[in-house]
Amino acid sequence: MTSTSDKRLFVLADDGPRTPASLPSPDPAAATPPPPQALPSPFPYPAQSPRLSQSPAGDRRNVAPNLIPSSTVIGSAGTAREDILGSGDVVPAPFPWARNRRAHVLSLAELSLSGVHVVSGDVRCKRCGSAYKVELPLWVKYGEIRDYIARHKGTMHDRAPAKWMNPPLFSCRICERRGCVKPVISAKKRSINWLFLLLSEMLGFCNLAQLKYFCKHTNNHRTGAKDRVLYLTYLCLCKQLAGDRDEGGLFDR
Ligand SMILES: [Zn+2]
Repeated sequence: MTSTSDKRLFVLADDGPRTPASLPSPDPAAATPPPPQALPSPFPYPAQSPRLSQSPAGDRRNVAPNLIPSSTVIGSAGTAREDILGSGDVVPAPFPWARNRRAHVLSLAELSLSGVHVVSGDVRCKRCGSAYKVELPLWVKYGEIRDYIARHKGTMHDRAPAKWMNPPLFSCRICERRGCVKPVISAKKRSINWLFLLLSEMLGFCNLAQLKYFCKHTNNHRTGAKDRVLYLTYLCLCKQLAGDRDEGGLFDR
């Protein structure tokens, strides 16, 4: 059974004509939306690499510069201020799109420079038990979330809406059942794939402790109910992505 109505499943290849549910596009470069500027050649890691970002020290040729372990190098100019962070905040970047700082991701400009156009994350099916990676087109998903926030921020009242609090599950590409695939969230908070959870709009699967960890390390007020902390997490991650290009302070609290 195919499920063409489940758009969330298809975001992994949903930046063009609808793609069958069975597998994502084998070529992330082909599925990548036109970036707003000329970009270097696509990020060279294999689309289905099961160890995409698990060995930062041993896979330098395939990773973005920021993945190279370093206590000081962030991966692009303009971030030297992070050198002054306490050592407890500096950690090896767990993903090519993560900064080497807890709960921080690279900006869209930095990701473009690194050739990162697709963000992947681990998921597992509750029904058949299959575990695999889902890939998301970075610019498309960011644009959707940005537009949603632009339309609804005025009525959110600093609280996450229901669709963020209780995100629908993906459909399974293996058993093709609907609404049964959840993200796999690392038990180690420093290794949580924040950008994937943002782009898949599945941050709501984080528990309160995980969300408070994010807010703690991004200097956000972190008390309150989950809908409040989740809202802050969404806006802060979007702010990190936008960097200096946060249009009109859209992602400011
Ligand atoms: Zn399944």
